[in-house]
This record gives sequence, C-alpha cells and structure tokens, in this order.
Amino acid sequence: MSKGNISVQAENIFPIIKKFLYSDHEIFLRELVSNAVDATTKIKTLAQKGEMKDELGDIKIEVKIDKENKTLHIIDKGIGMTEDEVNKYLNQMAFSSAEEFLSKYKDDATIIGHFGLGFYSAFMVADKVDVITKSYKKDAPANIWSCDGNPEYTIHPHDKTERGTEIILHINDENKEYLEEYRIKELLNKYCKFLPVEIKFGTKTESTWEGEGDDKQEIKTEVDDIINNPHPIWKMKPADLTDEDYKKFYNELHPFSQPPLFWIHLNIDYPFNLTGILYFPKLTNNFEVQKNKIQLYSNQVFITDDVKEIVPEFLMLLHGVIDSPDIPLNVSRSYLQSDSNVKKINTYISKKVSEKLQSLFETDRVSYEDKWKEISTFVKYGMISDEKFNEKAMGFALLKNLDGVHSTLEEYKEKVKATQTDKHNKLIYLYANDPKAQHSYIKAAKDYGYDVLEMDTIIDNHFMQHIEYKGSEVTFVRVDSDTPDNLVQKDETKESVLSQADQDKVKDIFTNNVKNLGLGQIELKPLSPTDHPVTITKPEFMRRMKEMQAMQGMDMGMFPDSHNVVINTNHPLIADKLVKMKSEEKKADFANYLHDLALLNQNMLKGEELSAFIARSLEFVK
Ligand code: ADP
Repeated sequence: MSKGNISVQAENIFPIIKKFLYSDHEIFLRELVSNAVDATTKIKTLAQKGEMKDELGDIKIEVKIDKENKTLHIIDKGIGMTEDEVNKYLNQMAFSSAEEFLSKYKDDATIIGHFGLGFYSAFMVADKVDVITKSYKKDAPANIWSCDGNPEYTIHPHDKTERGTEIILHINDENKEYLEEYRIKELLNKYCKFLPVEIKFGTKTESTWEGEGDDKQEIKTEVDDIINNPHPIWKMKPADLTDEDYKKFYNELHPFSQPPLFWIHLNIDYPFNLTGILYFPKLTNNFEVQKNKIQLYSNQVFITDDVKEIVPEFLMLLHGVIDSPDIPLNVSRSYLQSDSNVKKINTYISKKVSEKLQSLFETDRVSYEDKWKEISTFVKYGMISDEKFNEKAMGFALLKNLDGVHSTLEEYKEKVKATQTDKHNKLIYLYANDPKAQHSYIKAAKDYGYDVLEMDTIIDNHFMQHIEYKGSEVTFVRVDSDTPDNLVQKDETKESVLSQADQDKVKDIFTNNVKNLGLGQIELKPLSPTDHPVTITKPEFMRRMKEMQAMQGMDMGMFPDSHNVVINTNHPLIADKLVKMKSEEKKADFANYLHDLALLNQNMLKGEELSAFIARSLEFVK
C-alpha cells in the first residue's frame, strides 16, 4: 500500500474544480466515459498490432448506478493502469496540467477537460472517488486508488482479476440527481450518443414471437441497453450510404422534423481533419431561424452545439454534425476566432456549400427552382455576409417574378434591359412585397410592359441593397413607390389637357382640403386617362430606410410616415368633373373622396376614417 500527498501546488486543484466548473457539473460523465473509451481504443490498437496477446473479449463500457450505496460506476475493459501509472497519470500529470490551466485560462472553465484534468471533474459531484484498475500488462497486480477530495490519496492492492478500470463515484448530497436513472440516461444521450465503443446502461426487454397461429407466443428477453450508436454515418464513406441512410440519421438528430431538403457530407483530412454532415432543413416559415442545430464533436465525443466560431454565420441555419479533432478546444473563444485552423475550416465549409448548390443548380435546375424558396434565405444571407460565397452565388442565386419565373441575376438583366433602363442608364428592377395589397400598382406596372419581382422575405431588403451595392447599375423600386409612368423614368413629357390655371385650382382644392397627408407632397401629373385619378405613392428611399430601422428594432421616428399624392390631371374625374363643380363644399368633398379611395388602395384607410368613408359611400349610392 502507498500513501501520498498530491503535491504542493496541487492543493489548488479542488478549489479550482469546485469553483470554475460549478455551472457545468454534468460534464464529469462525458470526461469519465471518454477516458474509458480512450482506454478501450488503446487496447484494441494494441491487440491489432499484436502487442497484447490475450483475448480482447467483450469490450463494452458499462455505466451503473448503485442507489443503495449512493455510487455511480463507470467500468471499462481497456488497458488499465499499473500502480506506477496510477501515480503518474492520476497524480503527477494532473497537477502539472492544473498549474498550466491556472496560469493561462483562469476565466474559461469550460475547457478544463482539455487540460488533462477531465478525471478530476469527478470531484464536482463526488465526495470520494475510487479507481480500481488492472493493467493489461502481464503480471501487473490490480490496485485501488482512493481520494476524498483532499490532497491525500491512498493506493492499495486489489483483487480485481479482469483487465480494465472501474471508477466509483461516491455521489455527494448536493448532486444526488446523478443517482437517478433518467438523469444519467439524459447525459449519456447528450454527450455519448456517438462514442465509438458500445456503452451499456442497464437492460431492456426485447420481445420476439415464436410459433404459429394459436400457439404464437411472445418471448421476452432481457438484453443490454446500449445507449449509443458507435458507427455514426458521418464517419462512413458517402459511396456506401443511401439517401435513406442520410434521412434516417437526420431523424435521429432531429426527431419529428420535416425531412431535409438535401445535405452535404464533409470529409477532409488535409490540412486539417474534419468529417460531418450538414443538412439543409426545410424552413416552414420565412425566418424561423433555428440556430444551435449543428453539433460539434471531437472524435465522436459531443463538445457543444454552439459552433459560432467554426461555422460561417450564414450557415448556422443548417443542421447536422461536425467532427474534428483539430479544432482547438483547449483555448478561449477569442483565440479560436484568430486560429488559422478554424479559419480554414470556415472557408472549407463555405466552399463545400457553394459547390453543392452550384451542382444542384447545374444538374437539375427544375428541382433547384422548386427548393429555391427554402434555400434562398441561406443563399441571400450568405451573399450578404460572406464575400467569397457571394462571388460563387452570383451564378446560382435566383430572382423570382410574380409569374413564378426564376432567373439568375445575369438572365434577369438581359430580360428587362430593353424595357426597364431609365434615362440615367440605370436598370430599374420593380418588385412587390405584398402582391395582394399592391395589386393595382402591379397591374399598372405590367400594363406599362414592366416585369415585377417577388421580394417578400425579411432578408430581401438587405439582399436588394446588397445587389445594388455590388452592381451599381441596378436599382430596386417597389411598385407603389411612384406612378407607373415614373417607375422607370424616361425622357418623355406629356401634355395635360388642363390649362395651367385649372391645374393650379385643382392643386389648391387638394392642398386645402385633404387630411392625413403626413409629410408628403401633392403633385400634379398628366398621366393616361386610364390610370387612377389619385394615386398614393411611398417614395422608395424613405420607406426603405424606415423598414430597415424597424427591422433593427430602433424605430426612433427619424423617418416619419409619409406618402405623396399624385393627381392625374388627364383623368376625366379631375379634368371634367372636379374642375367643373360649382360649390366649394362639393369640390372639397369630392377631392377627399378620391383621396380616400387612393388611401384605400394602399390599405392605408383605417379606423374612424374608414367608417366615415363607408358611410359617405352609402350616401352616394343612395
Ligand atoms: P486526459 O484524459 O485529458 O489525459 P484525465 O485527467 O481525464 O486527462 O486523465 C489522466 C490520465 O489518466 C489519462 O491520460 C489516462 O492515462 C489515465 N486514465 C484516466 N482514466 C483512465 C481509464 N479509464 N483507463 C486507463 N487510464 C485512464
């Protein structure tokens, strides 16, 4: 038997563990099971190399709760440790790691496991820890190491005959939850679901049927409950997998989700090692942004689902797994951002995604267009936020018009160039974001021979601005931002049928009588007699600024609501009727009525004003 003192500096270790890891107690299980997996993988390798001659035997890892004795057991049949190794690995090495940890990363406790301190996380939940271990080495006696959370520990011989290690945690009162089956199962599911060695936790009943007809009998058998899938498909070769395999795995990761649109199998071993599968989920709602759906693993050990630094931001909407032993987990966040491996991983993922989209677009444009609505959010977001991706996406980003026709940016330019180039040689792309509400404006634009795009997702405002910024010759204009003749400004002057004096009169009637004008202006225009007599327009710039502001949640009223009123002096209701009315009161009434109709057309007539309008209309009909 030997007794020792864990070393002078080491007195620090227990306070560190208790203090820094307090919020994240549960990771102790991941650390201990990972150690068991490592020990098992090592013995497998030794057996393969012929350095271990004995039978490998059943190498399952077992996790077991003993409620009566308030202990939690993690048992492996791995390489085990000799007494010397116990001294070296559990005592000395741990403490030099603790020192290093203390000096460098005082403030980031989540990484303690990657400092060779994983084993000690056991003391977060246990008052006392026993390690019973027997090395695979011939004639090495088994021994038991015990420590109760003070710097002292003991090592005694033990009568264990089987190769491997059993860790026994004497769970303390504050952490009794770890003696509950459901809780342990939950943790095993979270952290150990894809560990490469089978992990048994309890047993389950399996039933099979024997015999035929009336003799048919249910046979129930107790079998080991294996909680993990040691061969997750991301570790396999894409050539060996079917679409069904990928969908099944997606379902395993995200039960009850709709099937994914498509996926990308990542597999690279130089200049860094990374495997994984990224799924494009079916977004049911426009901006049902679900982040934290990508899980990060290191050699099949779950690390986190917060992959901000590793995955380009726009791809955070994807689902799936990334597994890389090369992502430095033992450093702080800010370091991670500047790490060159992490940068390369970022670039690699972004490149893979654009290649996948490009190939979908090229090989099956019809099905790509079908999926466009759902993938457009990723693509647009990606173009805005990632320069490299933007360059690639110029080839496969689509614009969809109101007739449901999709065009690439290049194709669209060709399509509208002839009709929608204005007098300053700018290309004007017209769009609607609410085709129902903007119906009459759309109709008017189409009557002029213009094409109207559908831009109805939250990201579209940013996307349009991005396209304008990238290609200076393009300007997006909403169909209701100006009168149809002026949406695409050309050098044409039309004559008004009204004399200047009559026009001035009309302007006065409106200026003096129309309510709810906001900060807008009244403008007279000789439009076609078939255009509306009065049109409300919302100038593109002001409206867009306001929308952007509102989206960023900072509506400070910097850009107040405003709209312009355009009076068509060639419309018979203006040119004949209004001008010829005798009484001032009738003129005022009529101007207000036409203005209300225009407001109604913009869905801007609400509340009391709408009621008054209806009442007045009923009067007219009488
Ligand atoms: P790390 O696993 O990061 O090296 P730990 O503190 O978790 O740090 O473990 C320290 C060392 O103790 C391990 O490197 C390993 O050599 C040894 N060890 C821990 N658990 C086991 C086990 N179940 N079987 C064999 N060796 C183990």
